Amino acid sequence: MAGTGGKFKVRCPACGVANLIPADREGETGKCGGCHGALPPLYLHPVPLTDRSFDSFVAHYPGPVLAEFWAPW
Ligand SMILES: [Zn+2]
Repeated sequence: MAGTGGKFKVRCPACGVANLIPADREGETGKCGGCHGALPPLYLHPVPLTDRSFDSFVAHYPGPVLAEFWAPW
């Protein structure tokens, strides 16, 4: 992941085609080049979530999610 000009593969959950997504489109949804179905957004950086946003984000993201939990106490 060098610089900001790279492209990253996002696999279509419907047809399995790997789509190349530019790094500057992070967080945006797109369309699959194979079946024109919705592609999950590319995330290159961790997305901070709160107890208000966690359920909605995780429930609507169609791919696997890696979560790290921490608390200030
Ligand atoms: Zn597809």
